[in-house]
Amino acid sequence: MTEILNILVRRHKDCDIIKWAFNTAFGERNLKDFILAYNIEDRRYLNVTNRCTNNCAFCIRKTDVGVGYNLWLAREPGLQEIKEALGDPAGCSEVVFCGYGEPLVRLDLVKDISSYIKDSFGSVVRVNTNGHADLLHGRGSVERLRGLVDRINISLNAENDHKYREICRPSFGPGTHDAVIQFAASCVGVIPDITLSVVDWPGIDIVKCREIAENIGVAFRVRKHDGIRQA
Ligand code: SF4
Repeated sequence: MTEILNILVRRHKDCDIIKWAFNTAFGERNLKDFILAYNIEDRRYLNVTNRCTNNCAFCIRKTDVGVGYNLWLAREPGLQEIKEALGDPAGCSEVVFCGYGEPLVRLDLVKDISSYIKDSFGSVVRVNTNGHADLLHGRGSVERLRGLVDRINISLNAENDHKYREICRPSFGPGTHDAVIQFAASCVGVIPDITLSVVDWPGIDIVKCREIAENIGVAFRVRKHDGIRQA
């Protein structure tokens, strides 16, 4: 029964009635197990928000399996909660902001946590992002992460705005694809290791996407669409 409700919640995450029914039935165990940090292989992932400004056709959040953890959050966690969940990442190859949402929706929180990680553990920090940070926070937003984030993986996902809107369905509408490219370009000289990535999805021109990355002067990667999130 619980699992059926979990599936309903995952499929209808914006439905207040389903959330209410689940919470009424199961209380604070709630829709979600409130997992803020989890490990995959030797990486530690931080799940800081479920909000996202895309609604991608291939989003892992739409699958019942997800990443193997229930990453739906009953509410947005605070700084202290995330620090406690992070623990000591000393044995991890990197700490990755990824979650079931777009981490840079909470840019200042990502900045503060990254600063804490650098000061306390010196770990490598990576952000996986949809590249909408400038649309959310204004031009030059990546400057706030200078010296704190070592790697950034930006999802390009299409070679032009038309296909991007078809596949990623961005809430910012037309022009979002250009904004993603501009954001990636703005990371050059700020973040040491930058990768533009695409999901191997029908109709995507991988060659043209690779050219966009080459023109900016950043790395390029194709992610398999196999139900497994961007590692
Ligand atoms: S950007 Fe990522 S989290 Fe947002 S909808 Fe697309 S795949 Fe899902």
